[in-house]
Amino acid sequence: MSSKTELTTLTEENLYKQPEEIFDVIQKIGEGSFGSVYKSIHKETNQILAIKQVAVDSDLQEIIKEISIMQQCHSPYIVKYYGSFFKDTTLWIVMEYCSLGSVSDIIKLRKKTLTEDEIACILSDVLKGLEYLHRKKMIHRDIKAGNVLLNSEGHAKLADFGITAQLTHNITKCNTMIGTPYWMAPEVILEIGYDSLADIWSLGVTALEMAEGKPPYADIHPMRALFMIPTRPPPSFQELDKWSAPFIDFVSVCLVKNRVERAKATDLRYHEFIMTGKGPNVLSEIISDVNSIKNKQSNNVSKSSEENNKKNVGKDDDTLKDVCCGKSDEQFGQSMNTTKINLTNGKQYGSRGSKELGKEVHELGTSNFDNMAMSISDFFDFKVLSVLNYDELQQLMMKLDTEMEKEINELRERYLLKEKPILDAINGKRNRQQNF
Ligand code: ATP
Repeated sequence: MSSKTELTTLTEENLYKQPEEIFDVIQKIGEGSFGSVYKSIHKETNQILAIKQVAVDSDLQEIIKEISIMQQCHSPYIVKYYGSFFKDTTLWIVMEYCSLGSVSDIIKLRKKTLTEDEIACILSDVLKGLEYLHRKKMIHRDIKAGNVLLNSEGHAKLADFGITAQLTHNITKCNTMIGTPYWMAPEVILEIGYDSLADIWSLGVTALEMAEGKPPYADIHPMRALFMIPTRPPPSFQELDKWSAPFIDFVSVCLVKNRVERAKATDLRYHEFIMTGKGPNVLSEIISDVNSIKNKQSNNVSKSSEENNKKNVGKDDDTLKDVCCGKSDEQFGQSMNTTKINLTNGKQYGSRGSKELGKEVHELGTSNFDNMAMSISDFFDFKVLSVLNYDELQQLMMKLDTEMEKEINELRERYLLKEKPILDAINGKRNRQQNF
């Protein structure tokens, strides 16, 4: 297939055509919470693209947000956006194609976690993407291996801007609890206001995920994780002695609970772990492994579809996805609940897990953990108590007592403030009467 001129953006003329006149949709490559992603060809240029097809009855507002954020980003470290089309009730979002898929896809495909050199190389690109976003006053808010895509040359790019926030110059900290629980920064869970440094916490979790195959707390209920992240010391590696000092330090400067003391993307780009990285060549093994696994899978798919055709049994394009993703492998996080949540307005994004959970978590998160005890009694139907252990329940009890004392003191102070002018007035009258 000869490549003609490279597609930059879709021309206006194209925008009046039906998308299938412009693109050939080849095969399904993945599925997210809003719809499916297809490998496609731009007929005019022969360029391979990724098209995300989203049914418009899903949350159009979120999708439009994703599109407009992608449109504003022009960086080699962020997935390029070319344009979008409406076809009947489906929105087609046309993006740059990253043939190796996401880093979490790669871990699952190879059934292998990444080496330090591979991680340093990927993180170096991710940090450049984050530096770009943060300079533009944007927060990604969902940094995780599943949202870092690799192109055919192994360059890493940030994707999935569905929940990216753009900070205005006036509002520099957000107050929405949003993201995927295990990667969430403590300040996001506590809803005490957060900024771009929340992405750095998630980056630290992502580094652990790439090294160990899953993020910390992945084996526990996400609601328990929501409780543990802000109350426990920052997570680290399960086996510290397996990792180099610079890598351990890199993770520890990302996973600082107090966001003010957390490193920024710009600083981290020059961290020893990144600076001593060996460059893109270290990804050659990943590239060849993924390509050969994918080739084998497409051969299997075409063989099985030929057989099916012979048998006259029609199969839909989910076949490829099933083969690509392989069967569930807990070690590589397949079974992990990746529910995304937005606790402020109670709307759940991206649930690949239970919808119920999103609801429960919304109820849990109506307030911050400093007054969590009050938020539980006020808003929560106590379901969370069943997932907490004895110590956590004791801790909760202590919080409830402290909170009660604090509230009583505040009430007393408010009462005293109101009482004072009345007492002053009474004393004034009394003094005047005595003077007469
Ligand atoms: P969610 O929307 O729930 O966060 P997600 O990020 O995996 O999940 P999508 O963005 O719809 O959802 O992507 C689904 C899958 O499609 C990805 O995991 C990845 O494997 C593949 N994919 C997405 N975008 C691209 C792209 N630009 N190039 C190649 N593959 C892609």
